[in-house]
Amino acid sequence: MKSSGGLRFLPSINELLNTETAKKIEAETGVNHLTETARTAVETLRRELIENNSKENFSREDLLSKAEQLLEKIHQVERRKSIRRVINATGVIIHTNLGRAPLSENAVKAIAENASRYCNLEYDLDTGKRGKRGAAAENLLAEITGAESALIVNNCAAACILVLTALSKGGEAIVSRGELVEIGGDFRIPDVMAESGAILKEVGATNRTKISDYEKAISENTRLIVKVHPSNYRIIGFTETPSVADLANLAHQNNILFYEDAGSGALLDLSKYGLQDEPLISRSISDGADVVTFSGDKLLGAIQAGLIVGKKETIETLRKHALYRALRASKITYAILESVLEGFQKEKAFEKIPVLKMLSMTEDEILKRTKKFVRKIKNDNLNIEIISGKSVIGGGSAPDVQPPTSLISITHKDFPANKIEQILRESNPPVIGRILEDKFLLDLRTVFEDEEAELLEILNKSLNSL
Ligand SMILES: *Cc1c(COP(=O)(O)O)cnc(C)c1O
Repeated sequence: MKSSGGLRFLPSINELLNTETAKKIEAETGVNHLTETARTAVETLRRELIENNSKENFSREDLLSKAEQLLEKIHQVERRKSIRRVINATGVIIHTNLGRAPLSENAVKAIAENASRYCNLEYDLDTGKRGKRGAAAENLLAEITGAESALIVNNCAAACILVLTALSKGGEAIVSRGELVEIGGDFRIPDVMAESGAILKEVGATNRTKISDYEKAISENTRLIVKVHPSNYRIIGFTETPSVADLANLAHQNNILFYEDAGSGALLDLSKYGLQDEPLISRSISDGADVVTFSGDKLLGAIQAGLIVGKKETIETLRKHALYRALRASKITYAILESVLEGFQKEKAFEKIPVLKMLSMTEDEILKRTKKFVRKIKNDNLNIEIISGKSVIGGGSAPDVQPPTSLISITHKDFPANKIEQILRESNPPVIGRILEDKFLLDLRTVFEDEEAELLEILNKSLNSL
């Protein structure tokens, strides 16, 4: 049998642990994890040598250096899996895979100043006694939406489960067939209802449901009429669905409750930006909804949270339910929500909240910014063009609204678009763009202005030729 390219010179784990590379990694991961990684590296090298059945005769030094390189590579791949900032140049404002809404500066400050050490989370500073958790954020939320009361939980999915469980477990909840949607990430309304113990009573047809369909479905056992915003899905053409006001009236005439899951929802009228289909939370409340749920990190632009607003009695039923204890939000969430909601209260939301700022950037502003940025790109390998295109709202909100934008189209003299994509994705910080017709595209709408210098440096330095 032939010796496979110097298998006998394969370094031991100990030898590898004594290299400079290993020492550097040890400082980051500790010795136990490093030893595991070193085992993987040596094992990978052994397999490579056997599989390649290489005739090359590697020296002891060659193999040690190969093992070091593998160790470094495995370590880097692992590190890329930890949470880290990326530059979002996709133009998708609420990018679910990139963490949805970015935080405002004020929100970051609020965490550091108010919630990072001890805080008055459940302590009343006026009386020195136990205080109500999240009271300030909930009061702000109620004030801004015109609701009697509010409650905050971990995310909107949790809010839906809490509402359905507390208000209709064992009884019937009526929903239109056109609203039995999957929101994404396996969150399906019919499944959530089944989990909550509510009996789903479907009415109407996919494209049309009338108020009389709901009316006919009401029985002794009905507890709730539910309206779900279809979010990432649109039925267009021959459609009909009753208004919130009509549904709330019908529910109240029959002594049952009306619940709307608005999904993203909007605290401000966003019709100017094409978002007229996003339910305005304050309108749902004034139209009589007993309870409305929506997300904290979609168009609200704050943090993962489930916001619940509605009638005092209904909200108190939710607060007292045992499930609330399992779904309640953290002090960090309250601090961020307070900061963001204050922005809405002071009517400064469009200046302070990144999601709304990005949404409201005009095509002209982006073009000017893009031209200025492109002039600073100095890389002879690249061919740069500015083309017009579309940004995307994302986060399952308004799939039909695509704000016009300017895109930086990049082609490289040696690399195809997917290679450019890979190099930028692996840069530090990673830059995420998109590919269209073999062009790599960057949209500055979702790039923070203070990230431009970094982005420029990456474009100028990392896209070298072979
Ligand atoms: C996004 C969405 C949810 C889930 O919200 P999360 O905050 O992601 O849990 C629920 N319902 C609707 C209609 C949605 O659009």
